Amino acid sequence: MNQMALLGTSFACDCGRQHRIPTRALHYGPTSLEQLLPTVAALPDVHNCLLVADQRTWAAAGRQVEEKLRQGKLTVARHIVSDHGGESPVADDRTKERLLTEAPTTDLFIAVGSGVINDLVKWVAFLRGKPYIVVATAASMNGYASANVAASIDGLKVLFHAEACLAVFSTPDILAEAPYRLTASGLGDVLAKTVSSADWLLNRELFGDYYCRFSVDLLKDLEPIYLNNPEQIRAREPAALQALFTALFFSSVAMTITGTSAPASGGEHLISHTLDMLADRDGGSHDLHGRQVGVASILMAALYEEVLAIDTPRFELPRTEVDEEFWGSLTPMVADEYRKKLRRYQQVREQLSQPGNWQALRRLLQVDLVPAAQLKSCLARAGAAHRVEDIDHSGRPLSREKFSRVVRNSSQMRARFTILDLAALLGYMPSRVEQLIDRWLS
Ligand SMILES: [Zn+2]
Ligand SMILES: [Zn+2]
Repeated sequence: MNQMALLGTSFACDCGRQHRIPTRALHYGPTSLEQLLPTVAALPDVHNCLLVADQRTWAAAGRQVEEKLRQGKLTVARHIVSDHGGESPVADDRTKERLLTEAPTTDLFIAVGSGVINDLVKWVAFLRGKPYIVVATAASMNGYASANVAASIDGLKVLFHAEACLAVFSTPDILAEAPYRLTASGLGDVLAKTVSSADWLLNRELFGDYYCRFSVDLLKDLEPIYLNNPEQIRAREPAALQALFTALFFSSVAMTITGTSAPASGGEHLISHTLDMLADRDGGSHDLHGRQVGVASILMAALYEEVLAIDTPRFELPRTEVDEEFWGSLTPMVADEYRKKLRRYQQVREQLSQPGNWQALRRLLQVDLVPAAQLKSCLARAGAAHRVEDIDHSGRPLSREKFSRVVRNSSQMRARFTILDLAALLGYMPSRVEQLIDRWLS
């Protein structure tokens, strides 16, 4: 599949929808920044632009981006987002407000950074009704071509729809210079797709939810490159970094064209979101998204293997109440979502108890899955987080006990059905899942 040719186009898909990819180009290569000025110059009504970076990303790429842009007739301004309590900025409403008031009016925003800077600029550009372009400084996450903003408003994590960027730029040098933890985190995030697409398929089979095979297959050609060559990612080899970066980019395209995070986010993401929410609730800190997601993906793959090996399933209904002691002040919010899920448990139990249905589902889900052993080996060889103790939680290695409680409870926070729910229905919680945690994540 020539994915690049699809950028900026609109096309009819076999899933029955018309897909439109708002991002027109991915410029990646040793000299890709040379394309920046011609790209900007070709945009109608753009006479000036505003570069937005933080101190680190300014040093990593901002300065050279500014030099390239100043070679033309454009007026180029810059805004450095200040640090948050001595650390990197965060994408929250206060930082956004400051950016909105302090940033000069501009025809075009250019974000120089990764997760936070990309989210902040996407947000502010959307509020001002202006286009934006990203110069990516790390292969760390799959939001570069996404229309969604992941932010925190009044302390609550929210995801809302804005406008995706016009183009993404980066070079092998910039990505190789990024802190390696960020790159390894990007690998964890993109590997989640191997289990999240099975979760998505599960929702189509069980509830008739919308599903798009095309968007699942967007990364198909790239996946073996990083899955089979993790040492090359660790050595920052250009071809491996390129595969990872391109896969992260198309992972965000998949979410944008389908209008859902389902192609890239399943049970493993619920575990990571729960870890984030608990840390925020307790005034602590959490690890990088992709590091948590990578570890949880190994467990999801292991759970799928166990569950799909069952010949004659016996279903039991999980508890009807959420665990108040576990969720604390988050209980009311989680209980709302969990109520929707309880109905689904009943429905799934009836449906999968019909003759033939379980066997058909097993065969179908098998197709996209990658063995847990392969995910584990890939992350370990890449020098990425692959054990519970690798996850930093409020300055300490995450305990197996806490992780196990998170695994048991995290599926309650969203109505979306995942392997965590199927495992709960099959009586895997808590003792058998704990055996799996010991076997795979220690
Ligand atoms: Zn489609
Ligand atoms: Zn993710």
